[in-house]
Amino acid sequence: MQTQMLIGAKFEAGTETAEAVLNPRTGATILDLPEASQSQIDAAIAAAEKAFATWSRTTPAQRSTYLLKIAERIEAEAEEFAKLEALNCGKPINAVLNDEIPAIVDCYRFFAGAVRSMPGVVAGEYLSGHTSMIRRDPIGIVASIAPWNYPLMMMAWKLAPAIGGGNTVVFKPSEQTPLTALKLARVLADVLPEGVVNVVLGRGNSVGNALINHPKVNMISITGDVATGKKVLEAAAKSVKRTHLELGGKAPVIVFDDADIDAVVSGLRAFGYYNAGQDCTAACRVYAGAKVYDRLVADLSTAASSLKYNLADDTENEIGPLISKRQRDRVASFVERASELKHIEITTGGKPGDGTGFYYQPTVVAGALQEDEIVRREVFGPVVSVTRFSDVDDAVAWANDSDYGLASSVWTKDISRAMSTAARLQYGCTWINTHFMLTNEMPHGGLKQSGYGKDMSLYALEDYTAVRHVMIAHG
Ligand code: NAD
Repeated sequence: MQTQMLIGAKFEAGTETAEAVLNPRTGATILDLPEASQSQIDAAIAAAEKAFATWSRTTPAQRSTYLLKIAERIEAEAEEFAKLEALNCGKPINAVLNDEIPAIVDCYRFFAGAVRSMPGVVAGEYLSGHTSMIRRDPIGIVASIAPWNYPLMMMAWKLAPAIGGGNTVVFKPSEQTPLTALKLARVLADVLPEGVVNVVLGRGNSVGNALINHPKVNMISITGDVATGKKVLEAAAKSVKRTHLELGGKAPVIVFDDADIDAVVSGLRAFGYYNAGQDCTAACRVYAGAKVYDRLVADLSTAASSLKYNLADDTENEIGPLISKRQRDRVASFVERASELKHIEITTGGKPGDGTGFYYQPTVVAGALQEDEIVRREVFGPVVSVTRFSDVDDAVAWANDSDYGLASSVWTKDISRAMSTAARLQYGCTWINTHFMLTNEMPHGGLKQSGYGKDMSLYALEDYTAVRHVMIAHG
């Protein structure tokens, strides 16, 4: 297993306190990894700075070729990457191999094409006797900081547009899930010029904090908690760094009385519980029309209780455990507090799974009201709440009555109702009669405290490049 950080062309172990990396399916320690020292962080940033001088002047075609090589290497080693991700995150192997790896490979391929065809305002004589043109140039050194829920995918979302746009990067994976980033570091060292991507290990409040406060970092890109995003903004304010924030979510799902309830139930079974609900777009906050509410709760409870997990043969599992005991305890405490309310019924689940792994039963919380904590706060676990509505204005108002603004969905057979409801929702994405589906051509990112900045799509390349105007006076 590759366990060393990548600093310039060198692989080296951190020299500071070690963090235990766990197998969430068993709770056992896989290995202990020491974190980077301040001098190792400085060296990574110096390597990125040195590489920027030449990398930023490569052509889009050259950078495209590098991105394609990274995609090819991940594809060639898909099984090894998937096994490592499954081991470190507890994800079912088939979910990583069949859902995540192809999307990750496609992300590098998408940006390999996108970087060669960026659109923009046409050059011209907007002031007589002067020609103006727009450039999009790299920003500089990007500190990229990733969460634990999709380690290799978040790395792809951050690296591909950043290096595609001509920037150099110091990347920090989550201290809980560094293994695939370390494996990819070997690929990056083989494929890319020295220093274009550096990988350092460590906790948020030590190594993460040093990165976001480093005077040489020009941009911070982070996916994580809202509280972490706020710390990034405070750090960025000191030296006016650019920021790209992908923070939490609490996705509302509005189900109208005319919706295809079988499709809703199978959608919620898949998209409410995928990755054990540790997904910022998880379909976790359902508003059901009064006429379909009872059937939806009953069918969803049956469907959720049929999800397969914690089976010895991992190829049978549909969902995995939570990432840590701490996360499982957090999820359990949300459900316990909800169950103490008289109007709430836990119709399935509501308890930790068996064994030493960090499992939690797929859970449905019925009868939830808008002001309940379970409706308002991000649980980040396999827990879906269902709230009854009678009036569309209530459903839209409740859906929007959230600190978050990342993802939402509307389920109805009436296309006019779907479109008019979608238009009123304050979310970065609204799906109609589906949920959770992502594609590299389309942007992903939030409003409100879910942050700003887009991952995937041409909009991400825009975020990782600066618009510049060059004007030439005619002789
Ligand atoms: P987290 O904020 O605790 O950690 C995310 C990353 O930030 C980690 O690498 C961590 O080490 C680092 N970090 C923590 N404190 C820091 C600090 N003070 N300075 C610099 N770096 C710091 O979040 P998490 O628990 O790893 O991930 C779960 C959260 O991420 C959830 O809230 C989830 O909704 C969110 N998330 C959002 C998206 C999205 O696209 N919007 C995607 C995935 C996860």
